[in-house]
Amino acid sequence: MKAKLIDGKAIAQSIRDEVKAAVDKMVAAGRRPPSLTVVLAGKDPASQVYVNSKKKACAALGFTSGEHLLDETVSEAALVELINKLNHDPAVDGILVQLPLPKHIREQVILEKIDPAKDVDGFHPVNVGRLVANTPGLRPCTPAGCIELLKRAGVDLNGAKAVVLGRSNIVGKPVAALLLHEHCTVTICHSRTKHLRDIVKSADVIIAAIGKPNFVTADMVKPGAAVIDVGINRLANKKIVGDVDFEGVGNVAGFITPVPGGVGPMTIAMLMYNTLQACRMRMGN
Ligand code: NAP
Repeated sequence: MKAKLIDGKAIAQSIRDEVKAAVDKMVAAGRRPPSLTVVLAGKDPASQVYVNSKKKACAALGFTSGEHLLDETVSEAALVELINKLNHDPAVDGILVQLPLPKHIREQVILEKIDPAKDVDGFHPVNVGRLVANTPGLRPCTPAGCIELLKRAGVDLNGAKAVVLGRSNIVGKPVAALLLHEHCTVTICHSRTKHLRDIVKSADVIIAAIGKPNFVTADMVKPGAAVIDVGINRLANKKIVGDVDFEGVGNVAGFITPVPGGVGPMTIAMLMYNTLQACRMRMGN
């Protein structure tokens, strides 16, 4: 393989180490550690796995954590009441509502009830506005993780042509905004984009976030480009692959992230970073 491998596990560990050092300093100065509360409604097995790994990450960094495990049948009104309670609890810095919610609950209604200062997922419209305006606020974890991977791998983003594949609210659009703030020239592609292959081939930086296994192939990549693969796709044989043909593209690109072990570990690391930030902002620094 010609490309330099961007090791998401190692970079995520460095971020956790930095967060842990900051928490140790806070505690040594007599302050309480950051605190994250996770709300899970229903018994979706993947969500339970995510919630457990968030709990473990909190424990490893010295955060306090709380969880509210609600029945699948919980009403929207009851969930709103819980969020209001957590918003007003001074001991809670971050609130994370695990998605997806049961079908009868409107996700947007719930996400908009979270106090933007405690919105560690960065999905509240106030934080989306701050992201677009490039003013201080909590940034969505996976997109922020993509930028950290690029920066810490030493990819020069200043003036680079970046192409984002996918325009979702949780990955595509926010990562495009973050790349713009890093002074990239950004193009977003989606399912209606014409001449997509030519556009991707012109990119210095490619972020693939469409959820289509091995969609980006070597012939679509400019030699030396940096390729960040956000996709997580489970094949019929149970193997997990990204949106990028890792073997083929690895022979052309300058930098590449693996799946698993690339963007995935960054999401929780950035969640921990956001919880620390939320705690600091609420304490006034
Ligand atoms: P999503 O909401 O389904 O959005 C997919 C986007 O891809 C849409 O904008 C869609 O275009 C576009 N798209 C689909 N097929 C396309 C094609 N053939 N050509 C061009 N564009 C196409 O997905 P998401 O939530 O953003 O997630 C994307 C992937 O990232 C998934 O595999 C997901 O599992 C993964 N993910 C990983 C992490 C992590 O922590 N590593 C976090 C979040 C998501 P239209 O808008 O035109 O439909």
